[in-house]
Amino acid sequence: MNNFDIAGPDDIIAGKTTDIYFTRTKEVLEKAGINKNVVMEVAQKGMPAQYPFGIFAGLSNVLKLLEGKKVDVYAIPEGSPFFEDIPVLTIRGQYLDFGIYETAILGFLCHASGITTKALKCKIAADDKTVLSFGARRAHPAIAGMIDKYAYIGGCDGFSVIFASELLGKEPSGTVPHVLILLVGDTTQAMQLFDAYIDPAIKRLALIDTFNDERFETIRVAEALKDKLDSIRLDTPSSRRGNLKKIAEEIRWELDIRGYKHVKIFASGGLDEENIIELKSIIDGFGIGTSISNAKVMDYSMDIVEIEGKPISKKGKKSSFKYTYKCKNCLFMVPTIEQNSEIYCPTCKSKLENITVKYIENGRIIKTIDTPEIVRNRILSNKEKLRKYIKL
Ligand SMILES: [Zn+2]
Repeated sequence: MNNFDIAGPDDIIAGKTTDIYFTRTKEVLEKAGINKNVVMEVAQKGMPAQYPFGIFAGLSNVLKLLEGKKVDVYAIPEGSPFFEDIPVLTIRGQYLDFGIYETAILGFLCHASGITTKALKCKIAADDKTVLSFGARRAHPAIAGMIDKYAYIGGCDGFSVIFASELLGKEPSGTVPHVLILLVGDTTQAMQLFDAYIDPAIKRLALIDTFNDERFETIRVAEALKDKLDSIRLDTPSSRRGNLKKIAEEIRWELDIRGYKHVKIFASGGLDEENIIELKSIIDGFGIGTSISNAKVMDYSMDIVEIEGKPISKKGKKSSFKYTYKCKNCLFMVPTIEQNSEIYCPTCKSKLENITVKYIENGRIIKTIDTPEIVRNRILSNKEKLRKYIKL
C-alpha cells in the first residue's frame, strides 16, 4: 500500500499512532477491572535559559480529537505564552476513555508549539522587517500545511505552501527559484518572462545570486523591470557568501543612487533569529526555512495529578487540578488550586486573572475554538512583553 507512510485522521482517532505501552496498559486495566476517574495535566519542565517561555499551540487539534469522548478538557487559550511547570491543558475523565491518546495529544501540542514559538522568536528579532516561512521542504509533505499554518500563527508575515493557504484563507508568498533562472539561462531574462506571464498582482521578487555578482545582477534586473521590481533576494551559498551584510549594504547603495530606493532586499538560506538581529539594519525581509519548520519541539509531558478526586502524582510533579493565573501587564504566571483566588503579581502588584478555560464538558465542545487569526493576534499582542524574557 502506497500511503506515503502517513497515518490519516482515522488512524489517529483509532489510536494507531499511540505508543504500544498505552494499549497494553489499557488491556491490563480492562482485564483487571480497574477504570478510575483521573485528572491528567500537560505542562513543560525545563525551558532553555535564553528563552524561558514557550507559546502554547495545537489546542484546536486536541479538542477535535477529544470531542465526543466522555471527558472534560480545560486549557489556557491557544497562543498564550507559558513558563516552566504552568499547566497548559488538563483532562478529567475515566482513564480508559482517553488514556491511549496521550501520544497523539502530546504530538499535536509539542510540534505545533515548537514551530509557533520559533516563528515568534524570529518575528521579535525582526521587529518591523518581514519574516516569511519557507521551510516546508525540510519536512514530510503531509505536514507542510501544518508547518506553515503554525509559522504564520506564530507571527510570520507570510508562508509559501499552497495547502496552508487553504487552512488559513490567505495567499501564499514566493519569489523565484534558481531552477527558473538556470532553465532560462539568464537572471534578467528570467525575470522579464516572469513579468510577462505572471499575474501583475503578484510582486516581482528577483533572485540575483545564480550566475554572477549579486550587486551587478541586481542593477541589471532593476534597470530591466524598473518600478515593477519589488525586491531582490540574496540566497548566496555560505561557501560563496563572504560578508552578507556588506554585500547587502553595497547593493542598497547602488540601488539608491540609481533611483531604486523602492526595491527591497530579502535574504534567505539557513538563517535563524540571531542572523536576523545581525542583518535587520540592512535587510528588509527574511525567508526562514529549517529553523522554523524543524524548530525544536516543546517537551510537554502529560501526568496524572488526581485519582478519584484525591491529589496524587509521580515524584517531581505537583499534584491536584490547577488553574493558571496570569498577570496581564508582565505575563507572570502561577498555578493555583483555587478557582477564584485573589492573587497579586509579585512584580507589578496587579491582580492576576484566571486564564484556564473549560473547552469540553462531557465530550461536548462548549467554547468556540479560536480561529488561526485570533490565535495569531493573541500571540502578537504579547510580542513586546515577551521581548524582555529573551536573553540572547
Ligand atoms: Zn505583573
